[in-house]
Amino acid sequence: LVTRMQPFAETIFATMSALALEHDAVNLGQGFPDTDGPSEVLGAARDAISGGHNQYPPSIGIPALREAIAEHQAHHHSLRPDPADEVLVTTGATEAIAASILGLVSPGDEVVVIEPSYDSYSAVIALAGGVKRTVPLRWPDLALDADELAAAFSERTRVVVVNSPHNPTGKVFSPKELEVVADLARRHDAWVISDEVYEHLTFGVAHTPIATLPGMWERTLTIGSAGKFFSVTGWKVGWLSGPAELVRAAQVVRQYLTFTTASPFQHAVAHALRMGPQPLDDLRDSLRARHDLLVTGLRAAGLEVRPSQGTYFVVADAAPLGVTDALQWCLDLPAAAGVAAVPVSVFCDDPSETATLVRFAFCKRDEVLQEGCRRLAAFT
Ligand code: PMP
Ligand code: GLN
Repeated sequence: LVTRMQPFAETIFATMSALALEHDAVNLGQGFPDTDGPSEVLGAARDAISGGHNQYPPSIGIPALREAIAEHQAHHHSLRPDPADEVLVTTGATEAIAASILGLVSPGDEVVVIEPSYDSYSAVIALAGGVKRTVPLRWPDLALDADELAAAFSERTRVVVVNSPHNPTGKVFSPKELEVVADLARRHDAWVISDEVYEHLTFGVAHTPIATLPGMWERTLTIGSAGKFFSVTGWKVGWLSGPAELVRAAQVVRQYLTFTTASPFQHAVAHALRMGPQPLDDLRDSLRARHDLLVTGLRAAGLEVRPSQGTYFVVADAAPLGVTDALQWCLDLPAAAGVAAVPVSVFCDDPSETATLVRFAFCKRDEVLQEGCRRLAAFT
């Protein structure tokens, strides 16, 4: 059956994880941790189930979680959303992205997207009937060109999507770069949807929420994900915060997507957010060590690696290995080398700029990363 979503038929993550399973490959493709989050957090979910939190929660999210998210934004970022109407719990950041875009973009509106970009943005912009205008981050320095960005804005621009720390490149946008985006958003009276799911996973560089820049709170929806905070990606608890009017626009849509988010997991995430910074710091430190391990291993296998400033991911250029088409290389890799990875070109409308780049996930156990690198080195 051919539908209008045919161009988005299967996500690259599903394709690559299926190939990894089929060939018993080390899965450095899909970004999910292979170690679950803190046992106290897991226990909080079990307690919530036995404590009777098993029926529909309020559509905007349980009060305890909305309050914990508001406290988190205040503690870490000096943002002070009102938990009553400036915070919305969603079924993963994925739903926050969908509800924000569908809520704010009307058919024909333009949406500025920085590429490479996380796959769901394009799919939801298409669902909304929006028109995507892309601006590239060019390998290897991944700088955002202010003139190219300005050229992507027009009088039809309604929304600009920002993702920092950035999937797939691991880039953390500097306050200066964010100010360039903010300035254009203010001048064009555009809203910002800021995907900050990796906000705590940065390695020695500070994360700046764009909503903290002057005049930006009132035009920004900021998105987070408990999956990334606490290594529980299967729980699908996310959120967004921003001014009441924008949150309401997303909430109207969210009512008809999922209506609400699993009750016990909301209770557990509220508990987790109140555990203080320790679990977040521990995860960041351990990921940083695994990042370094993977970078060393990929270099030993002959790839040219750009170390990441954050996220679960590192991007490497396979051109030194003679690779000209990383998409095909990644499709072959699980069978040929016993490793799965993701080609960066799938995150771009124009694949030519990123044709030889490959994304590897390092949110895996040391021995898994070591085995993946050993297999790659044996193959290359
Ligand atoms: N945004 C980005 C940049 C991501 O990488 C991901 C998933 N890894 C998501 C959103 C989706 O998050 P969730 O699993 O909470 O839906
Ligand atoms: N966000 C994860 C990644 O980038 C995958 C999430 C998914 O499978 N949709 O790998």
